[in-house]
Amino acid sequence: MNPTALDTAAPAGRRAAVDLAAVREQWGGLLAAIDTPPAAEWPPRECRGFLDQLAARDAELDQVSASATIGRAPLVLREHPAPLNLDALDTALAVERELFELADTIAAAVQRPAHDQDDATDPARWRFPAPSAPTIDPGSRAYGLHWAAVWIEGRALDEMSGDLFAPMPLRLLDETAAVARRCRERVERALGRDGRTTALDRPCPWCGGELTGRTRAGGEPEVTCATGEACGAPVPMSCRGRVWRGAELVDLWAALSGAHR
Ligand SMILES: [Zn+2]
Repeated sequence: MNPTALDTAAPAGRRAAVDLAAVREQWGGLLAAIDTPPAAEWPPRECRGFLDQLAARDAELDQVSASATIGRAPLVLREHPAPLNLDALDTALAVERELFELADTIAAAVQRPAHDQDDATDPARWRFPAPSAPTIDPGSRAYGLHWAAVWIEGRALDEMSGDLFAPMPLRLLDETAAVARRCRERVERALGRDGRTTALDRPCPWCGGELTGRTRAGGEPEVTCATGEACGAPVPMSCRGRVWRGAELVDLWAALSGAHR
């Protein structure tokens, strides 16, 4: 994504571009998850520190699988003989379909019709699937989700490409931002990453360890200390270390501000 365009674009366009970039960045992980039994993905990998060997082996497998799947033909155009994680496959198919259809809608609204054959095959264009034979000539869908997302980002940020594209109408820009957000949320939910994680800028008042705050979508916030059982804080252990939830958070904030003073 072009940082200058990101600075000057309309807010809805910026939001769309950021969410689409997040979808692209996590796409390889989602494709890898389709071929991984759900039991290996949940609990989320950051909870699996105590199973070091297993985690390391899974990470290797994930890498092999991710590098093998990134850049392959789009999902709609290939077969899934034995998907191991149906949730991941459903999510990937739905997100891919949504972004392809969104690109079609945007192209129909803002892309100038082709003057001649050269113009028609300009790689900057979004090409529609052939109406009579969409699987034989899928148009720009052949390049997969990654290209669709990059192309939509360019339109959302109103990136120049000669006179090929008109600026997006505001209503379409809002729709683009809404679709991008929905797709990002679906991908992150399927990967168990829908919580927000923040490294706190102050250390654990009990042991000086690193504190991490998390907000789960629809769930309660929590803070964990990375030290583990050696931390003397009077709160329970989770797989991530000592964890503060609910009323315990009040005590933590009190201790943190006490330590600060
Ligand atoms: Zn601690």
